[in-house]
Amino acid sequence: MRRTRALCLVGSLSLAASAAATAEPSFNFGEFLGSYLGGPVPVEAEVKAPAPAQVHEIQIAAADVPLPERKPPPGKMKKPEPLAKELFGRAKLAADLSPRALGSYAKGCLAGGVHLSDAGPDWQTMRPSRNRAWGHPKLIKLLQRLGSESRQDGWTGLLVGDISQPRGGPMLSGHMSHQMGLDADVWLTPMPDRVLTKREREDISATSMLDKTKLAVDPKQFTPAHAAIIKRAASYPSVERIFVHPAIKKSLCTTAGKDRAWLGKVRPIWGHHYHFHIRMGCTNAGCEKQAPVHGDDGCGKEIDNWLKTIEASLKPKPKPPGPEKPYVPPSERRRMTMEQLPSECRIVLNSPSIKPIVGEAAAPATTGSSR
Ligand SMILES: [Zn+2]
Repeated sequence: MRRTRALCLVGSLSLAASAAATAEPSFNFGEFLGSYLGGPVPVEAEVKAPAPAQVHEIQIAAADVPLPERKPPPGKMKKPEPLAKELFGRAKLAADLSPRALGSYAKGCLAGGVHLSDAGPDWQTMRPSRNRAWGHPKLIKLLQRLGSESRQDGWTGLLVGDISQPRGGPMLSGHMSHQMGLDADVWLTPMPDRVLTKREREDISATSMLDKTKLAVDPKQFTPAHAAIIKRAASYPSVERIFVHPAIKKSLCTTAGKDRAWLGKVRPIWGHHYHFHIRMGCTNAGCEKQAPVHGDDGCGKEIDNWLKTIEASLKPKPKPPGPEKPYVPPSERRRMTMEQLPSECRIVLNSPSIKPIVGEAAAPATTGSSR
């Protein structure tokens, strides 16, 4: 960041300097800049130099010095387009539009989002400061239903993690998906039989279901009630996928018994041992459907290969010889601009908000991890 800024300034200064230098052989830009700034120009001028706007002012102040007219090459001074995650991350309330999931799970947005209230009879939302308890109305309904039915599986209710931002879209931190209001994280930590304070919902840590090996579940943590709630969620026809850690999938494969139709929807993935991730299918126009999961239960080679991959990842890797790897910029997906999203997402972003939620003022969006 500092380096980028410094480089930009170096660019601006050298442009101004070269303009001044070509104006008059006797004109010393360094002295001029020094007198303007009230002292000598420091050696690290690129770091301590004024911001580009001020450099512009300097150029105006030096109007009496005959400078040749120089226009920046077209497009050179163009402001970079803001990142979509910054624009969507700022939205505090949903767009007042009819509900639609637009785009795809990792490149989309949400019109007409609905807020899952902080606490209901069978659920409580976690990390309220992130303001990510928004979803498509059908997902919010499904979470309420799952919360209510969780009692049949021995739960007192569910702790709900991130769903989506008020207007969906990419997030400032954490998830790549959760962009259309059809993804939700449900904690594997049981909900206490009382209403947590806002502070507690912000601070309480989730519990990992893995044992010390990190290759299997800890039976003290991952109980039949956990298996039952995952099975219940996967059995809803509108749910297309459930993501869990491979060790959790392995455990489900082992204990499922004869009823295995739902297991194919439970997909192994990195992480996901603190929560499970529910993904609903999309039905409206403008939403890109995912390929259906393959027919089998995924309990054969697929899960064994996953566990081998996890095991290999846990082994310490020797440091490669040679100099440290250069900085790798965030992937293009992290740097998504509005142009990469469906054009309707601009409408979603710019539409008036729904009315503020009474008694549950939408918290300012902040950064946070995906758990
Ligand atoms: Zn998730």
